[in-house]
Amino acid sequence: MLTDLLKPITSSPARRRVTVADVVFGGPAVPVIAGPCAVEPGYVGHALAMHQAGASMLRASIFKPRTRPDAFQGMGEEGLALVEKARALTGKPVLVEPLSAEHVEMLTGRVDAFMIGARSMQNTPLLRAAGRSGLPVVLKRGMAATYDEWLAAAEYVLAEGNPQVILCERGIRTFETATRNTLDVSAVPVLRERTPLPVIVDPSHAAGRADWVPALALAAVAAGADGLLIESHPVPSESWSDAAQAITPETLEAIIAGAAVLAPMLRGHQATELAEHRQIIDSLDLALGAVLQSRAGAVDAVQRDKRRSGLTVRDRSREQEVIAHVASRVPRLSAEAVGRVMTAVIDGCVEASERAAAAGDESGTVSG
Ligand code: PEP
Ligand code: MN
Repeated sequence: MLTDLLKPITSSPARRRVTVADVVFGGPAVPVIAGPCAVEPGYVGHALAMHQAGASMLRASIFKPRTRPDAFQGMGEEGLALVEKARALTGKPVLVEPLSAEHVEMLTGRVDAFMIGARSMQNTPLLRAAGRSGLPVVLKRGMAATYDEWLAAAEYVLAEGNPQVILCERGIRTFETATRNTLDVSAVPVLRERTPLPVIVDPSHAAGRADWVPALALAAVAAGADGLLIESHPVPSESWSDAAQAITPETLEAIIAGAAVLAPMLRGHQATELAEHRQIIDSLDLALGAVLQSRAGAVDAVQRDKRRSGLTVRDRSREQEVIAHVASRVPRLSAEAVGRVMTAVIDGCVEASERAAAAGDESGTVSG
């Protein structure tokens, strides 16, 4: 069975939950951290757009570790005022990247979590300072770091008595040049085996191009990622940095919806309390809704074809076959119960198609 097959792939006995404000990494949900690459003067509006698209947390990079010294280096402390405003307005926690121990000190108490960027992964004074801050730390993988080197860097934070570490895969250097980096999806299952720390994925810096971000993001969720970190901008082409890889808030919303549907279907359930069980049920219901919408679209295509060839009679024996087939896959429910559900599903889909036809729409509006 599908669930039995997939469960061992993504379930892990010893998950650590890392909580940033009320956002939980390592639980049943897949929180998405989103925002522009860098905090810019329009940041408060950008953050609102992320909030409305359903982001759980805000990217709030006021210091940018750019490859070239003549590139925009971030708004610095001036940007922090915008971040504080966005945080108050949206109620969402903010993730900020310090580049030095001094930055950590200046930011502590004013931000919710620290990000250690790929270029800083082995900056040990910075790792120790972030550890001492007591704030959750998102530790990105260095561009050419092995899993062992990455985990060793995490130990610098943990050694300061800070257990709140989240690992973030963001693509590594390989011989391929089509993408900015090569997303190493393997990091997710391999690290699940090696560490209880949550593992999230940044598809933006891996892809380097907005068009490829949704596919990589959902691949990461399918692999069992505990969250996503995504660059998004209301007007991507106007981003002050990394414009090519910024997705729109609409695309962000679609990824968040896709992740919510995929996650509960592809991973072992990790609920520890009633509220989390309910969260899983809500997510599964969303998945059921998505499947229904998609099924109605497929049925509509068949029905339109039948109407064109004058074949409007329902094929009851095929319907019985479909029901029996589904019932054999759902042993938790009685065959009668599955029969009732599937009959309602089949009737509902056919009705939707007939309604569309009666409204004179043969263009296929029921599509999924
Ligand atoms: C970032 O996420 O802002 C960033 C600079 O990415 P990375 O450190 O992965 O290059
Ligand atoms: Mn960037």
